[in-house]
Amino acid sequence: MARLVVVSNRVADPRKTAAGGLAVALGDALASSGGMWFGWSGQVLQAGESGADAPTQLHRAGATTLATVDLPQADYDAYYLGYANSVLWPVFHNRLDLAELDRSDVDGYRRVNRMFAHRLAALLKPDDVVWIHDYHLIPLAAELRALGCKQRMGFFLHIPVPPPMIMAAIPQHEWLMRSLFAYDLLGFQSNTDVTHFARYVHNEARAERRDDDVFHAFGRSVRARAVPIGIDVNEFQALGRGRESQDMLETLRKQYLGQRLLVGVDRLDYSKGLPQRLRAFQRLLADYPENRGNTVLIQVAAPSREMVNAYAELRMELEGISGAVNSEYGELDWTPVRYMYRAVARKRLPALYRASCVALVTPLRDGMNLVAKEYVAAQDPDDPGVLVLSRFAGAAEQMTQAILVNPYDTQAVAEAIQSALHMSQEERLRRHRELLKGIREFDVHWWHKEFMHNLLD
Ligand code: ADP
Repeated sequence: MARLVVVSNRVADPRKTAAGGLAVALGDALASSGGMWFGWSGQVLQAGESGADAPTQLHRAGATTLATVDLPQADYDAYYLGYANSVLWPVFHNRLDLAELDRSDVDGYRRVNRMFAHRLAALLKPDDVVWIHDYHLIPLAAELRALGCKQRMGFFLHIPVPPPMIMAAIPQHEWLMRSLFAYDLLGFQSNTDVTHFARYVHNEARAERRDDDVFHAFGRSVRARAVPIGIDVNEFQALGRGRESQDMLETLRKQYLGQRLLVGVDRLDYSKGLPQRLRAFQRLLADYPENRGNTVLIQVAAPSREMVNAYAELRMELEGISGAVNSEYGELDWTPVRYMYRAVARKRLPALYRASCVALVTPLRDGMNLVAKEYVAAQDPDDPGVLVLSRFAGAAEQMTQAILVNPYDTQAVAEAIQSALHMSQEERLRRHRELLKGIREFDVHWWHKEFMHNLLD
């Protein structure tokens, strides 16, 4: 069996629960092939500290090797905060208004990708299989190829591909898209993403489409497919049966006795449609007054990228709206919105989902959205809650039994919440059965196998 080498911006120890779905999914494959996970350590070197000469740090995590490098402050600023999160993230989520396109950070982005390529090339064996993840590392394969690396290389993009005209607003779009042709396989989250990629390379590079999923341009061929990521359903359900989750469920049920809970769980990110969601809840209380006094929205938003300007502004906006809803509708004995700017411990998350009769997963744009899948996994199969899901989340292509909404349409979302609150048990059971079947069939292990199968084919 060839050794698997995974590369992502951050590296996690797959043996730790807090590591999350990706680490859990890749853990087995990494361990069984004696694999390596390469990426940034998470450490930023302050001015004066020299990282350039520091060796790549190698740690053992069972049979897996974790290989990490530190980043000097200037590289972190330009590569991570700058080009990746102030250009690529907003543009790929259709937010040209938030993209800082005139920044010169692309040099830092290239520099870090090139440095990663040099560090990684020194560790690669000829028959390794390399799986590179996400928008931070788009040009990595091209940099590795420039160093003579001939290994099979696959790339999975966790975020959406924008329509070609939006992509073309990035000054370096041709270079970026051309560098994708250094891979053997491109995995995207949804068919919409593949379509956008196909239209882009046809329009801009006159790529020829050979077979159904092979594109030829710049003298190379690349296969591009939708391989939607899933969750580890069994692992998440086991978490729900755990002590911490059971205790939390009991606490929530006592605390909110007689109330119906709606839940939102997100990173605080402008792609998640949080202001729009709070306004839709406000509209629900305005248009359907019977929900006042007995319906509570618990919204947790985990701090994220606090050094990027757009995130600090969003934080203030959310505090403003949640405060406004509470002051407009709150009573001495009822607070409509419980808004928290923090992460919930992963072991308690299933309890929060299970205690809630409706989940609001209403991003304006999302590559996939795993919260939608976690909510379904956490439900009581005999009395499941209802998922209200944005049609603009990648998950909507698979989860068609959710109530699909346009998150920009405040009134429509309010109506969808109202119908979720009144859905018959029969219909809830039917929809949940289908949704659960889907997330089980296309779980994170399927995703990993499907990607590798296509890469090695
Ligand atoms: P993204 O990768 O953009 O953050 P996803 O929905 O795909 O969005 O994945 C988010 C992951 O992070 C899920 O596993 C979810 O449980 C977790 N998560 C998101 N927000 C929170 C939060 N506030 N508290 C705890 N976990 C969170």
